[in-house]
Amino acid sequence: MIASLLIANRGEIACRIIRTARSMGIHTVAVYSDADAQSLHVREADDAVNIGPAAARESYLVGERIIAAAKASGAEAIHPGYGFLSENADFAQDVADAGLVWVGPKPDSIRAMGLKDAAKARMIDAGVPVTPGYLGEDQTPERLKAEADAIGYPVLIKAVAGGGGKGMRQVEAGDQFLDALQSCRREAASSFGDDRVLIEKYIASPRHIEVQVFGDAHGNVVHLFERDCSLQRRHQKVIEEAPAPGMDAATRASVCEAAVRAAKAVDYVGAGTIEFIADASEGLRADRIWFMEMNTRLQVEHPVTEAITGQDLVEWQLRVASGEPLPLTQDQLAIDGHAIEARLYAEDPAKGFLPSIGTLEAFELGEGVRVDTGVEQGSVISPYYDPMIAKLIAHGPTREAAREALADALDDSVVWPVRTNAGFLVEALDHPAFVAGDVDTGLIAREGEGLMPAAHPSDDALAEAAAVLVGEGAFAGFRLNAAPRVAGRFLLDGETIEIDFAEALADIAAPEVTLESVLISEGGQTWLLTPWRATGVAQGGAADGAVLSPMPGRIIAVDVAAGQQVAKGQKLVTLEAMKMEHSLVAPFDGTVAELRAEAGGQVTEGTLLVSVERAES
Ligand code: ADP
Repeated sequence: MIASLLIANRGEIACRIIRTARSMGIHTVAVYSDADAQSLHVREADDAVNIGPAAARESYLVGERIIAAAKASGAEAIHPGYGFLSENADFAQDVADAGLVWVGPKPDSIRAMGLKDAAKARMIDAGVPVTPGYLGEDQTPERLKAEADAIGYPVLIKAVAGGGGKGMRQVEAGDQFLDALQSCRREAASSFGDDRVLIEKYIASPRHIEVQVFGDAHGNVVHLFERDCSLQRRHQKVIEEAPAPGMDAATRASVCEAAVRAAKAVDYVGAGTIEFIADASEGLRADRIWFMEMNTRLQVEHPVTEAITGQDLVEWQLRVASGEPLPLTQDQLAIDGHAIEARLYAEDPAKGFLPSIGTLEAFELGEGVRVDTGVEQGSVISPYYDPMIAKLIAHGPTREAAREALADALDDSVVWPVRTNAGFLVEALDHPAFVAGDVDTGLIAREGEGLMPAAHPSDDALAEAAAVLVGEGAFAGFRLNAAPRVAGRFLLDGETIEIDFAEALADIAAPEVTLESVLISEGGQTWLLTPWRATGVAQGGAADGAVLSPMPGRIIAVDVAAGQQVAKGQKLVTLEAMKMEHSLVAPFDGTVAELRAEAGGQVTEGTLLVSVERAES
């Protein structure tokens, strides 16, 4: 067995790997950028090595620094986690060439599955069903369009080097094809340095079904059943579960066997995932499930598989990397109950899911579920990395039990002042289609506003919080029983509101306590309530309409001109930050009074971009 392991990653996955390695008696070495010096993964590891500045391309993505850190710390092996260098075949080769153990598949297996077109071609040879489409060398727009016409619309254009939901365009009709191709190529060239594409038939009612596979260096390959990751936002997974709802035994056997064939075709060693797309318009049927791609690493959503199989997949990885055979054979593996995972992101659903950064003054997640996280109260969410801050995983005897446990845990979470998608996740888990196990990848896009959590706390929660906040002392001048109602003016996240709280006041145990502010948590969301007069904030001033940059980034488009009339919610500026594009919108109907944003400009957090003057109402 490996005696010492370097984890070339950060956040929750680094902490997760450290936990298993430690339980196996393996010495752990973390790496960290300057921005992560105080991070949980650094403190949890036995040793830690600084590998450079905050920007990932100068630290977590620099293979030589990571190998040097392994050498310097005496680590024998490197676990890449997911993302960063985990699917970089050249890095895997460099690790081996440096005399270190790579916890992952052979570089050739990574290469074989790295490009979507070559991987599909190889799968066709191995007898694995693939999505109908065009994989050819001829990349002229005329040929690609002719192929799309022949496949029949809608089609999907995919960058062959794509990943993470980037470099894909759905095309509804032939006359939109060439524009979509151009924009897909542009994104592919800038994100992946390769503008080649393939064309696939767009699958109706698509469900994302993937199979966990595991191989060892002795030629054994098993599967650990399927996961369903159909609940997606912009092609990114939001909630994942195992097993897939509505999967019968025969269909399961067929898709899992295809996954094992796929892994064997590339001599697969270690943990991998074969992703399939299913046309579920008539339920899950073996003849309507096609190979999409293979991820040659551990997945974010691996805990749901761990929950239903009772196995520790990181332990399996470390055993296999040490040369041991797989811990179990296929017939020793079985499904126990149902598990669902939700990804908690530091982002604000009310602001178009804009990432939210800052210090976690409050960070409490509900109980009764497994929590994998890389942060704690006091941690700083920086703008440099992926905004996923935790995963909550519920396991129960039935799907419904797991669903309720997960919704309850999210419901009980208190995170402040960083915003999260917890309220959105609760809405998604409670959506009738999800409850029924009838989810396709388009659900979130179709529902749109329908999945938005409440903008304000309930009247009851507000009344209770207001009563706690001011206590009886603040109302010494009132005669409670004489007044028909006791109401007050408060600021809820800076917005002035009136709260009627006479009844709630009667229930407060220690009404003389007078607090400066309270957090209200409800349905997974958290708000800050302060007495109106305590703040002295001028209401309705010009500052109201100031649209500031919420984080450092680059302005990629300015959609309005000075003096222009805008409607509430209208896009003003597009900001690129944290590897994503974000729209900043008008806070209310009005006129663009000042325009400071310039396309192409770099901005820091808090920079005034646009100021909107409220329309007279
Ligand atoms: P990436 O490598 O960027 O993650 P994938 O090829 O895995 O891209 O596709 C990501 C998601 O896009 C899938 O989970 C699915 O929701 C959707 N998708 C991919 N291919 C198709 C298709 N042919 N028809 C419909 N949806 C698709």
